[in-house]
Amino acid sequence: MTKAIYGVYGASGCGRGIMPLARQQLARAGVADRQLVFIDDDPGDGSPNREINGHRIVSFQQFLALSDSGNRYAALAIASGPIRSRLYDRCLANGVSVWTVQAEATVIMDDVQIGAGALLSPFVTITSNIRIGRCFHGNLYSYVEHDSVIGDFVTFAPGAKCNGNVHIGDYAYIGSGAVLKQGTLKSPLVIGTGAVVGMGAVVTRNVPPGVTVVGNPARPLIKD
Ligand code: UDP
Repeated sequence: MTKAIYGVYGASGCGRGIMPLARQQLARAGVADRQLVFIDDDPGDGSPNREINGHRIVSFQQFLALSDSGNRYAALAIASGPIRSRLYDRCLANGVSVWTVQAEATVIMDDVQIGAGALLSPFVTITSNIRIGRCFHGNLYSYVEHDSVIGDFVTFAPGAKCNGNVHIGDYAYIGSGAVLKQGTLKSPLVIGTGAVVGMGAVVTRNVPPGVTVVGNPARPLIKD
């Protein structure tokens, strides 16, 4: 049996923000840094010894060769939910477990369920009675308030604010600093599957699936 190997999938902006958190998490568990690599399908100049911030970048195939099935863990550190979903299937089909990385400086309150593969950056707060699906990204300073229900492969950019009783469908993307108005238990605010909320938007009404909204109050984006 080979040693466990850990990967941060995606060696770009998102991955470089997750890597130090992954390293700290492994250090707390007594795992050596050399067992932690970046995985990237497009590793730049193709040089075999390429590294970023002290970690090797390997292709997915190289990653598979580093350890046995069941002993490989990957944090899917790419902001696009649909890409994470594709890589999630790829990982599971190849004996790679999706790995949850959580910064120490996060606050998670009572009765919170979060699916596999979440990435929780510093200063994320998730209050009480909340359900979150697989591979959630809670980026820096974002929060989720009480009684919210969030689907799979949802991304919160830095500072996204989800107030209480909001329901968010799979693959939705909530932009940096956006505010989602509080709903009620009987009538939650609903952000549809695959919807995009633009940076700084103030969302006061439901957003239909696949629609991009921007502004204050947020309205559908009309492209020229
Ligand atoms: N990537 C990958 N496999 C994929 C899709 C993307 O390895 O199927 C990598 C891609 O090569 C890039 C990173 O993931 O290095 C995504 O970087 P990007 O700057 O687009 O997004 P972010 O880091 O902001 O999520």
